[in-house]
Amino acid sequence: MDCLFCKIAAGEIPSTKVYEDDRILAFRDIAPQAPTHILVIPKTHIPSVAAITPEHSALIGHIFEVIPQIAQAEGLENGYRVVSNCGPDARQTVHHLHFHILGGRPLEAQMA
Ligand code: 5GP
Ligand code: ZN
Repeated sequence: MDCLFCKIAAGEIPSTKVYEDDRILAFRDIAPQAPTHILVIPKTHIPSVAAITPEHSALIGHIFEVIPQIAQAEGLENGYRVVSNCGPDARQTVHHLHFHILGGRPLEAQMA
């Protein structure tokens, strides 16, 4: 499958990893929008939030257990934002589920 994040998960395209286990990978965004900008992905291909099913519950729960560990390791004690863009209106550009972790400065008040 021609998927950028599947290739990153497989190590075929290099990334700056900040966390990895058997199920998920976290790496720095190539075009950071905040001092800390990390992407957390499942290693298995899920196209977006819209494709999450009950089969993925444990995996999604695991992602959200690891996110605070990454935030703590990055020193984001002042807070951070977790974002997942889903579909064209949200301007999703990579069609492999990913959660942005953004922090390291006060973020804009508005969500959109
Ligand atoms: P989306 O717009 O789909 O929510 O987010 C995709 C993100 O992937 C963007 O923030 C973009 O900068 C990032 N990105 C795109 N290509 C690469 C890449 O090759 N490596 C890394 N580390 N990030 C990428
Ligand atoms: Zn993929």
